[in-house]
Amino acid sequence: MQKVESYVVGIDLGGTKIAAALFDSKGTVLKRELMETAGARTAKEVVQRMIDMIRSVSEGRPLTGVGLASPGAVNSQDGIVIHGTNLPEWDNVPLKHWMELELGVEVKVVNDANAAAWGEYVRGAGKGADNMVYVTFSTGIGAGIVIDGKLLLGKNSFAGELGHNIIDPNGTECSCGRFGCWEVFASGTAIRDMALRSMESRPSMITELANINGEKITSRHVFEAMALNDPVAVEVIDRSIHYMALGLANAVHTFNPDRIVIGGGVSKAGDLLFPALVEKTELFVMDPYKGTFTIEPAALKDDVGLIGAAALFHTT
Ligand SMILES: [Zn+2]
Repeated sequence: MQKVESYVVGIDLGGTKIAAALFDSKGTVLKRELMETAGARTAKEVVQRMIDMIRSVSEGRPLTGVGLASPGAVNSQDGIVIHGTNLPEWDNVPLKHWMELELGVEVKVVNDANAAAWGEYVRGAGKGADNMVYVTFSTGIGAGIVIDGKLLLGKNSFAGELGHNIIDPNGTECSCGRFGCWEVFASGTAIRDMALRSMESRPSMITELANINGEKITSRHVFEAMALNDPVAVEVIDRSIHYMALGLANAVHTFNPDRIVIGGGVSKAGDLLFPALVEKTELFVMDPYKGTFTIEPAALKDDVGLIGAAALFHTT
């Protein structure tokens, strides 16, 4: 008897764009669509837009389920977006309930960092690991944890907010309103800000590198200048890696992972980042943890949220 193919739609709901794709059970994208979120301001309007996209990409095929990655605080047990970052007017939106009523198939909702972590675990750089810590260094720091092959959610699905672990209470103010969180020391934004502060008193080629294409300075330019032995950039990256490693070492002690997967813009720095990050993290962990984990760059690119959302149903 021929096996019936199982189709899943993955959705990545962003503040500016909604991406939807139809996946087969091997994780292959069969059809995809991208729409602006703007124009649909209320939650009901956004949900209607997503339902239209699901119907369009699935082209009448029966679905096993719909996996949805949402920004902000998400209660995955009940499928409720409690507070949507970058989605104004989103407060306690029962996404799962609304969409299941309309579609008649199971809908699973996770926050975008957890979706990305799950995507890397099932289909990317976390494949084959049993315990994985996923950390994305970009505007902020996002994280998702897989323990014994399961996504760690916690009571309200808020587990794994490593970016807001306070590593120095005397540090600067964080977007969360508290002081000295890991992300004010080690995110891409933190690297840029540290470089800008250093450049107030010392010249650096970071400015020229950004000016070549008329870009605003980002952490990427700091890494580029570091590759050219710019003293300011070398110092800033060295300090940033110190802080990145410090937070990763805390995660190693907390979760005892066999693999750490690094995503986000900063992870594109490749050899300018990884060897030093591994060395420093090993230095910061207690003896029994040394040599028990690897640190790898993420394998999936912009589709990681979509892939992870769909993989909530297709786990092999
Ligand atoms: Zn914070």
